[in-house]
Amino acid sequence: MKLNRKIGKVLFCFLFLLTINAHALDGKVFNSKDLVILTNSYLQSKGGDDAWLIKNISPTDDFADVAMRAMDFEEQAKKALEQLRATTTLSSKVVESFKKIKIGVLTSKDGKLIIIDDQDSTKIPHDLLLCLIPKNLADDSYLSLASFDRDAKAIMIFALHYPEKLLPALIFHEMGHAYYLKLGKQSPGIESFSKKYCEEEVEMLDLGRAIVDKSTGGAFFRFTDELLRKVGKAKEPKDVLAHIELQDLIEFDGILEAKKCKSIISGLLVFEYIYNIGARYIENNFKKERDRKSKKEEFCYFLMKEYYKE
Ligand SMILES: [Zn+2]
Repeated sequence: MKLNRKIGKVLFCFLFLLTINAHALDGKVFNSKDLVILTNSYLQSKGGDDAWLIKNISPTDDFADVAMRAMDFEEQAKKALEQLRATTTLSSKVVESFKKIKIGVLTSKDGKLIIIDDQDSTKIPHDLLLCLIPKNLADDSYLSLASFDRDAKAIMIFALHYPEKLLPALIFHEMGHAYYLKLGKQSPGIESFSKKYCEEEVEMLDLGRAIVDKSTGGAFFRFTDELLRKVGKAKEPKDVLAHIELQDLIEFDGILEAKKCKSIISGLLVFEYIYNIGARYIENNFKKERDRKSKKEEFCYFLMKEYYKE
């Protein structure tokens, strides 16, 4: 879940294109301009600031209040991990491998943070840290609102109010990266902008999709399948995107109860929706796991290129 900020930045540059309405094309091959228009139309309706759980952290702040908010977030995350652990093989392994998760709040740009604990157990080592980034520290150095910091062994996540049906997917996705690191798998970071990066990323994106589907009682994949039935066969998975309309993205928002999300969260959502549509098409049309894997990696890499080019 690395692309949202960049997407927002890149695609807002194209806002002048918005006078052309997003529409499904006849002829039905992928055209990157249409993806830009579609994404911009969606993001344009999502302007403004998302609601922050922690806006600022400074010595003059009421720290007890910040700690309470962080602990609420931790409780929400841990509840989701427990409720959704059996979703896939990977989700159960992920939950099983991290028993001592603690919550922290970043307090300065140089990486200082405080670990919050409701008991006198700060000395007990944690095996994973969930670190909230307050608004005043959430700058462009973070390529995404959620990421896994391999050096700090911490999930870094913007301290926002997330839709209840989205947050578990974010946590599982990043914990998946943490789990792979624990297994000794060495995956390149997003900065490498490589096909190799997409190998692990696709697994985590798929884990996130499965979690969203479970959280929405199956509505997420049900709607995607309906959409794909209307589309029919495409020459390439990416050509499916030529049939997607703004209304479809808004439907996804409804399913995730994310209609009120603003620019930051929506930048991530649009990537998730678009990836999900292509990935689901691949799952429905390719029987062999090996083919699915390589097609998805190709699709993920293609989307990265589409969303990253400036
Ligand atoms: Zn990832």
